[in-house]
Amino acid sequence: MRVAVIGAGVAGLVCAYRLGQEGHAVDVYERWPGLGGQAATIDVGGGHLLERYYHHLFTSDRHIAELYAELGMPEELEWRPSSMAFFLEGRSWPFTSPLHLLRFGPLTPAARIRMGLAVLKLQKTAKEVGPYEGITARQWIRDAMGAEPYEKVWGPLLRGKFGDRADDISMAWLWGKLTMRRKLEGKEARQELLGYPGRSWEPLFHVLKAKIETRGGRVLIDRPAARLTQRADGFEVTAGAPGSFRTGHDPHAYTPDGEPERYDAIVATVPNDVFVGLLDDELAAAIGDDYRAKLDGIEYHTALCLLLELDRQFSPFYWTNIADPELPFVGLVEHTNFVEPERYDGRRFLYVANYLAPGDELLELDADALIDRYTPGLRKVNPAFDRSWIRERWLHREPAAQPIVTVGYRERIPPLQTGVPHLILANTTQIYPEDRGTNYAVRLGGEAAEALLSRRLNNVWSETGS
Ligand SMILES: Cc1cc2nc3c(=O)[nH]c(=O)nc-3n(C[C@H](O)[C@H](O)[C@H](O)COP(=O)(O)OP(=O)(O)OC[C@H]3O[C@@H](n4cnc5c(N)ncnc54)[C@H](O)[C@@H]3O)c2cc1C
Repeated sequence: MRVAVIGAGVAGLVCAYRLGQEGHAVDVYERWPGLGGQAATIDVGGGHLLERYYHHLFTSDRHIAELYAELGMPEELEWRPSSMAFFLEGRSWPFTSPLHLLRFGPLTPAARIRMGLAVLKLQKTAKEVGPYEGITARQWIRDAMGAEPYEKVWGPLLRGKFGDRADDISMAWLWGKLTMRRKLEGKEARQELLGYPGRSWEPLFHVLKAKIETRGGRVLIDRPAARLTQRADGFEVTAGAPGSFRTGHDPHAYTPDGEPERYDAIVATVPNDVFVGLLDDELAAAIGDDYRAKLDGIEYHTALCLLLELDRQFSPFYWTNIADPELPFVGLVEHTNFVEPERYDGRRFLYVANYLAPGDELLELDADALIDRYTPGLRKVNPAFDRSWIRERWLHREPAAQPIVTVGYRERIPPLQTGVPHLILANTTQIYPEDRGTNYAVRLGGEAAEALLSRRLNNVWSETGS
């Protein structure tokens, strides 16, 4: 088959690689002038690459670890101790080990113990997500831990990630976070290990690209799909002109460029709204009202991520969750407290993280205006902070960063098979009950190839498979 894969993020590249292994000719169309989608890197100067959005792996992320091994580059993945804190009530509270929970001042001693026991019990006994799909995280936390941990810790965290939808978030989502990642027992109890590919995520993308090309495929960056059209003998992809990414994410805004190309099959790895925007009238009708309703029914929040290069260390922690609702951002991720600054010739990098509902006024600001808004909050966390510490700044926005996983989400997930033969959709809305991440994008890319070929493939490690 001649297959077009739309999107050169992790899912798209892995899908194209798998299809190439099966002997199919694959073209990958990518809107951005680089590979990797949400895990794409930027050149921060001095020969160093850094992800636009902070990235690490968990020890449970076996799909991506196995992909690194399969591609002959397992040594790229390095595992390092992580350090975490909560900022609330005017200070950062270390939260790396169970001992830190016992010393966590914002909660009464009884609430600390109840919270710890509730997480332990969930990790030990809750093997299936089913019982957690019909209740909100809020309800479960209040029942299992009491009101105080919800008000002080979990509520602010959920609001940070999901804004005014926090109270509706499914317990299935939190179940995934609490049971599939780090356990409070065993060798990681005292300090969590997180993974990072020593030379950034970029080498993985280049190896995948090279493998796709070796099999006769093409990976076309800065070459978005502008239109997908159904033909009697398959599909056509109309590409958008180079530089189209500057106009945003809506394919209707891209100026068509060159003759449409014919394919037997299409795998789209773009967000739901972009997918709908790509379909011509005939395809839009062919996917049917039910499928369309599923696509339209899932909301996303936008990631707004400010990357700062500072002339010194900002905090002692890699990851600080902001649980103080007065601060206008939700997390501080100090990359060089995780990967040593020596890797970057002594330079220091801090991500200021935010998730916002579409239309939030902060999304309109440029980097300098955002720094103005953030500076008082940064000073609350580190009173010595001064704008003069900032050497360089980069700002990125990802509109479809976080699907909103409310109660009953499973029923609303669009299947990979769109209902149109040989038209597959594979995107982050289908990662469930796990929280989306590059590990699951690797799995999804393999599953998309399987869905297209209607059979199991070697080297695709679906949960139901090997
Ligand atoms: C702030 C943030 C932090 C994160 N932190 C982590 C982390 O620590 N660890 C982790 O594992 N994961 C993390 N993730 C999630 C992870 O990056 C994603 O889950 C994963 O990369 C998704 O891969 P994907 O291929 O499914 O989607 P995407 O990466 O979104 O790929 C879709 C691709 O389609 C392209 N596209 C869009 N429109 C078109 C078009 N018209 N034509 C052609 N191409 C198009 C896009 O440019 C993109 O490259 C984070 C994400 C964000 C936003």
